[in-house]
Amino acid sequence: MTDRRSLAYLQALGVDVYVRRSQPRPASEPDRPSPVSVETLRPAPPASRATAAESPGSSLDWEPLRARVAACTRCVLSETRTQTVFGVGDPRARWMFIGEAPGADEDRQGEPFVGRAGQLLNAMLRAIGLAREDVYIANVLKCRPPGNRDPRPEEAGACRGYLDRQIELVAPAIVVAVGRIAAQNLLATDKALARLRGQVHALGPRGWPLVVTYHPAYLLRSPAEKRKAWQDLLFAREVFGRIERGERVVP
Ligand code: SF4
Repeated sequence: MTDRRSLAYLQALGVDVYVRRSQPRPASEPDRPSPVSVETLRPAPPASRATAAESPGSSLDWEPLRARVAACTRCVLSETRTQTVFGVGDPRARWMFIGEAPGADEDRQGEPFVGRAGQLLNAMLRAIGLAREDVYIANVLKCRPPGNRDPRPEEAGACRGYLDRQIELVAPAIVVAVGRIAAQNLLATDKALARLRGQVHALGPRGWPLVVTYHPAYLLRSPAEKRKAWQDLLFAREVFGRIERGERVVP
């Protein structure tokens, strides 16, 4: 269902999408998932191990949760942040996109996925017919790691309860993990992103359907991978369609 507008967005991004004029590349095409030798974003962190006892916001509604995050000092990142970066978008969205952690732009502006990476994410959303304001966007960590270093396991663990509560409150139809670090943290795995692509995972005890794709910051550094991200987005849209038709998509 690639339309002219989606192609225009992708071409503006430099994504080569080789499709016939009215027939998109099927999500099940043989080269998906492609073997990816490197996703150079960051090395894999150990999986987070948040427990119920560690969960800092498990019963809060949106505003108390936002306030709890804003005042949070549960890890050392509170000492170096400019401000917390809670999340943005439709609190009842059908799609939820989860990234890794705020960067410098996000730390300054208090909103996830701004700057060049944010613009690319917005374009990726538009390419599959979504507007930024129609989805919910959050990060695994609410505070910027200094120098954009990897999140440490204890930081991801300390923060995870906030994200878990955000997911519960949004109750999305589908979750998209944006980037390897987010995917590995959410799925508690150290598998490479290439091995996580092209399949539906069950997130957490509620089994939220989750698919993965590349982080736009990585795509900016490795534009040749944009085509794979496009395949991921098509796959996500296909899965979403199945969910909307009432099909079971998680194992
Ligand atoms: S990263 Fe999360 S747990 Fe750490 S201080 Fe910020 S809000 Fe709290």
